[in-house]
Amino acid sequence: MKAAVYYDINDIRMEDRDLPELLEGEALIKMHACGLCGTDIHKAVHKTVKPGTVLGHEVGGEIVKLGKGVDNFQIGQRIFLAHHVPCFTCHYCRRGHHTVCKQWKETNIEPGGFSEYIKVSALHVKHSMVKLPDNMTYEQAAMMEPTACALRAIERANIRPGDSVMIVGTGQVGAILLQLAKAFRAGMVIANDVSEYRLEMSRKLGADRIINGAKEDMKAKVMEMTEGQGVDVIFVAAAVPALLSAAVDCASKGGTVLSFAIFNQGTTVSVDANRICMDEVSLIGSYSSTPFEYPTVLELISKRAIDVDTMITHRFALSQLNDAIKIASDPKAKCLKVMITPN
Ligand SMILES: [Zn+2]
Ligand SMILES: [Zn+2]
Repeated sequence: MKAAVYYDINDIRMEDRDLPELLEGEALIKMHACGLCGTDIHKAVHKTVKPGTVLGHEVGGEIVKLGKGVDNFQIGQRIFLAHHVPCFTCHYCRRGHHTVCKQWKETNIEPGGFSEYIKVSALHVKHSMVKLPDNMTYEQAAMMEPTACALRAIERANIRPGDSVMIVGTGQVGAILLQLAKAFRAGMVIANDVSEYRLEMSRKLGADRIINGAKEDMKAKVMEMTEGQGVDVIFVAAAVPALLSAAVDCASKGGTVLSFAIFNQGTTVSVDANRICMDEVSLIGSYSSTPFEYPTVLELISKRAIDVDTMITHRFALSQLNDAIKIASDPKAKCLKVMITPN
């Protein structure tokens, strides 16, 4: 089988690998679509993974082989697959923080999503593989993982009907957060970005108001839009430290700021400390997704409560992964979500 193997910036090579053998409870998946995630781009551009790694984890595919003892799936079934499985029993899992669980971080699919075939462990078959309804495409399945990440953030931020919401950074996850906020009956939803293209897409996907951070003063605009009150729930989905500080300034009293951005290690951010105590502004975070989000995400996408198709702006074959990353990491490119297909 062919896999796209990462070696260095701009150096991803197509390599032949042996088809993995299956043990009891395992499955072999033929990849039909795999989304290029912001974390894949970050790893490839900042060289944070070892040479020889196969990236990709947002998989829509088909079961082509099953190990002994798998009785809840059949060969030929279409599935969604995610890459990490929490243990459900450790200190962190018991407290609801499954994405910091040791097992969650250690589990993965083999060799990765950017491969013609993927081996799925028994744990994954049990917890992170989901059958697709007939009305869902493989690409929509591949959009389930980022949607699950966004859903977890929406639930952690505890949006209530009518809340005003702002998304700072309307890239591939921001564009889902925006739609989910609407689906969760938020009131006014503000899209905030520096790219005219992403703001135009946000408008298309349902944003009520737009702030162009390159041209407008974020706090002044927010206060104007909310009659001086500030925004109830703010998601920061851009790894710019100053935006996190500014978001705390833009929150309403009693509001919530959720960081969904992965900063370089050791990054510090200063915030107006009295906003936290005296104005009861909560500053929280949300990282990745867990099996708990998948059933809801399947409903939301299959019932078209959110539109993931419009977000897919580019498609590349496995052998063109270098080009895909180049476009997706170019801030000036008219690009939102890139899908990788086998050929
Ligand atoms: Zn992802
Ligand atoms: Zn755990």
